[in-house]
Amino acid sequence: MEDPKLEKHFKSHRSTVTSLSFSPNTKQLVSGSLDACLFLWPFKPQVRAYRFVGHNDAVHSVCFSPSGHLIASGSKDKKVRLWIPSVKGESTVFKAHTAAVRCVDFASDGQSLLSSSEDKTIKIWTVHRQKFQFSLNQHSNWVRCAKFSPDGRLIVSCSDDKTVKIWDRNTNECMHTFYEPHGFLNDVTFHPSGTCIGGGCTDASVKIWDIRTRKLIQHYANHVASVNSVAFHPNGNYLLSASSDATLKIFDLLEGRLIYTLHGHQGPATSVAFSKQGDFFASGGQDQQVLVWKTNFETAPSFVESTNTTSNKYTNGNDTSSNDYIASARVSSSTNQQKKTQISSLREKSQPETSDERGARKIDVFNGKSAYPTYGDGDRLEITNIGPAYENGISRSNSASACLVNSEPMSNAISKTNNRTTYGAQSNVNQAYAPQLANTLEHIVQQLDILTKTVAILETRLTMTEIIQLTVEQSYMATTDNPEWFSTKQIDNNLFLTNENHFFEGNRANIWLIRGAARDLIIDCGLGVCNLKKHFENLNLLNKDRECLVLCTHSHFDHCGGAKHFENDSQILIHRDDYQGLRDGREKDTLNYVRSAHFDQAPYRNFSAREYRVPATKCESILDGHRIDLGADDEIMVSHAPGHTPGSIVCYYPKTKSLFTGDLVYDCDHGDELIDWVPTSSVNDYLRSANRMIDWLEEHEIERVYPGHGRIFTNKKRAQDILREYIDSKDDCCSKARGSCMQTMVSGFLKMGCFRCCQ
Ligand SMILES: [Zn+2]
Ligand SMILES: [Zn+2]
Repeated sequence: MEDPKLEKHFKSHRSTVTSLSFSPNTKQLVSGSLDACLFLWPFKPQVRAYRFVGHNDAVHSVCFSPSGHLIASGSKDKKVRLWIPSVKGESTVFKAHTAAVRCVDFASDGQSLLSSSEDKTIKIWTVHRQKFQFSLNQHSNWVRCAKFSPDGRLIVSCSDDKTVKIWDRNTNECMHTFYEPHGFLNDVTFHPSGTCIGGGCTDASVKIWDIRTRKLIQHYANHVASVNSVAFHPNGNYLLSASSDATLKIFDLLEGRLIYTLHGHQGPATSVAFSKQGDFFASGGQDQQVLVWKTNFETAPSFVESTNTTSNKYTNGNDTSSNDYIASARVSSSTNQQKKTQISSLREKSQPETSDERGARKIDVFNGKSAYPTYGDGDRLEITNIGPAYENGISRSNSASACLVNSEPMSNAISKTNNRTTYGAQSNVNQAYAPQLANTLEHIVQQLDILTKTVAILETRLTMTEIIQLTVEQSYMATTDNPEWFSTKQIDNNLFLTNENHFFEGNRANIWLIRGAARDLIIDCGLGVCNLKKHFENLNLLNKDRECLVLCTHSHFDHCGGAKHFENDSQILIHRDDYQGLRDGREKDTLNYVRSAHFDQAPYRNFSAREYRVPATKCESILDGHRIDLGADDEIMVSHAPGHTPGSIVCYYPKTKSLFTGDLVYDCDHGDELIDWVPTSSVNDYLRSANRMIDWLEEHEIERVYPGHGRIFTNKKRAQDILREYIDSKDDCCSKARGSCMQTMVSGFLKMGCFRCCQ
């Protein structure tokens, strides 16, 4: 293993750096500071850093959303802000607490946000509309830190009341309390496996508890002052800590020992964070510096909780007396065919580790006197731009390793740059826009999903010309039989629901399989990045001797991308008005909001989101009133319901009194979120279809509504309500901010023309 190396160095904050978070794609890093600002640092050279101003007091915590489309910040001003990480620095704000906010964290699904505060509470909010959901109230002092578990089911919190609590998010109950007699924890976080928690304590220790056995299992006493921040490497094998003793330390959790001490900060180190892939980490300090380091650990894909790891879950923990009872998954990069999850053990080691120097490596960026000669080996390091301080100082050396061994101390380099700042302008955002646009700002952020999808369209258009059809075919052929890609559950006697759980939830479509009396029907078929047909065959849900039909509710990529895999053996049906889009694989009809950040796991080796396309697919067109005979009296009836696309349909299944609605209606916070603004949409058509559907549902006995996305409706009234909300939201379109703001926003801001207007 190579030693960690200092890669970049940013200094523009005017006070202590309190918190750091990498964007999921590791292209940006956000930092928060006691100076009340956030800085968004780019990793590309010649790209400016942005300063975000909005909080009225110290920023204590920053966090990128799992999709990378939002940054949350919590401040001493009692408020939480949600920022769009772009040049504009727009944010929406809400008063979250009655005292300083100490910590913010997104759940891994991106839907919920938590905040913890000096008011002794932890509060959970929806991200979309910042609706308060519930609070956790049992701490009797400041809640310094709270975090979601990787699967989102648990929350861990630490407080100045000297306790650490584990909460069940569903019941809002405290499941366990750890007591910390010698101090309190400044920071606590879940191990990527979700089975352990690690924390940094004011008594200078780093501790790891197993939450299943509820025992302290590792205890490191290597620091000599308060430990302010800890972070687990995504592969689960290392822990990084930042301390007021001015050092960062890296612990090997499998061996249970300190392996590195890093000296980079002058004064207390206050914050550390790993990038999502674990190839970088960042540290912040009271010295106002942000340092970015390359880990050089064995690189591993981010820890992915496989669907079969239920034994890792809190509720299934067995209390065994073996030393090896703590299983932590470790992803080995050495296997070359498929990345396999190998289980190794995190051994119990609760004796404090104190022999700081024994076996541990020391890296000091001040005097450059490293015990290790590898720093001279500069050509492996890809330093591009180290920011203003570096520019003026030590960057003169051609050797990339200069930042570590150059004779000019970094502190000198920094002191030269006091007057120089290159960050972007922050506050001229609103001035450039009409006043009414400023009024819609808050709503814009609430409609962030829509905005980011819009940006995605733009990006896609820009890259379209670079892609040739050949790549589409090639990437299509590369799709494999990945057993982890799909998850299927039985909903009803003859109904199965399949999802692509490693794909962005916002665009993840429901795949329905109906096992009919004589033949089967698949309604919508996912992205097509893995082979759905093979998946069903593996589950014995499709048989070669039974006919299977495929019906696409409309031509969008998330619903018909997978049809290609059925082309040879099945009839693929789509409404006439969406037919050509699928037949020709036309992007203007199939759309394509697929981005690499939308995948938390690659569907197959060398998958490239950039090259994703819906391929031209052999299909047949159908019309309103079409009936699909599943044998015996088993029948599906197709109804045309245009709006979202010209050829959108819904399917009625009388036998089970159910309706499949595609994207016409699904369960969401508010009906105005239904998507009628994409290039394939027509608001007028949508309004007509919505009105018709409300009436149709009224007239029919419907027990279940199965939408194209999200939850099943168990009550048709809920579907009707959402459609009514949708209709109502169009009534005041263009007269009020709601509904029209995206149009103004998009045409003004992205210069893309208006596609959400009242036609
Ligand atoms: Zn759609
Ligand atoms: Zn959809």
